[in-house]
Amino acid sequence: MAPEHGADPHDEPAELEAPATITCVDCGGICHLLSHPRPDEDATTGFVAGDIVAYRCEDCLDRWDIELA
Ligand SMILES: [Zn+2]
Repeated sequence: MAPEHGADPHDEPAELEAPATITCVDCGGICHLLSHPRPDEDATTGFVAGDIVAYRCEDCLDRWDIELA
């Protein structure tokens, strides 16, 4: 009954991979990902469109909340 070709991407919500680091808009430093994929979600990455992921800049310590789209 199950197809042999793995999960059909059309049946799954779009999964997103959040980058581990982003560039700080303020100072150009490296912002590290604070958020982790939710372990209760049955997803390979744990992130879907609309999730908010938080980053912390290592230089100015600003926090950035990025909405995945
Ligand atoms: Zn910064």
